[in-house]
Amino acid sequence: MPVVVQGTSKIHRPAAQDTGPGALPGSACGHDGPVRILMVEDDAAVAASSLDGLRAQGFDVEHVATGGAALTAVASPEPPDVVLLDLGLPDMDGQEVCRRIRSTSEVPVIVVSARGDEADRVIALELGADDYLVKPFGMRELAARIRAVLRRVATPTAPAATGVQELGRLTIDRRTQRVHVDDEEIALTAKEFDVLAYLAEDPGAVRRRTEILEHVWDGHWYGATKTVDAHVAAIRKKLGDPAWVEAVRGVGFRLGSPER
Ligand code: CA
Repeated sequence: MPVVVQGTSKIHRPAAQDTGPGALPGSACGHDGPVRILMVEDDAAVAASSLDGLRAQGFDVEHVATGGAALTAVASPEPPDVVLLDLGLPDMDGQEVCRRIRSTSEVPVIVVSARGDEADRVIALELGADDYLVKPFGMRELAARIRAVLRRVATPTAPAATGVQELGRLTIDRRTQRVHVDDEEIALTAKEFDVLAYLAEDPGAVRRRTEILEHVWDGHWYGATKTVDAHVAAIRKKLGDPAWVEAVRGVGFRLGSPER
């Protein structure tokens, strides 16, 4: 039976360590000092080895063992830059934790789980997780995934990343992540926005499902291309006309322009 770690343990890195690898994507954090990681893990042995590894990489790691403590930490005045979320937690399912985090925060979430089957990956993705890592994993891979999600947060992906793009009745504001059709604001999830914004980078160009996965989910979602279809279906429904996103049979999707 695994030992449950009670409460939280904060590990503060000295200032001299701030130039270590953990501080590399500093511009992604919006604060000085090393990247803050919130590790949500109830297995003390897994937590201990990951804590050591992440500390060695220069990250500032806060560890909690329950979903409730994770939600509290995300809502705190000094929220983490990245959440590593175990799915099997003692007080609530990790998927529920992910859903609740996503309802209040844009913090990148990397689901870390022994459950590696596609259904779990797809569910986590659809709840707004940014990446999915299956146990056991190497520390270098974990650190690389953390840096990748931080780069995605820090690096605008679109040519008009800070501007407002108008496409007929459709307006996409990448800075505020807001979408309007005519004057009506459309409430898209972060991933739905990313899919739409990616298609809008080159209106009319066909993007393959694998390209969309690669771009929006960083290519870690092997075999989950049907998730793209689910997101496209949601975007069409919310925009109010399926013609906004055209399916190109056997290829992928492109941004369309419905008749009024
Ligand atoms: Ca667990």
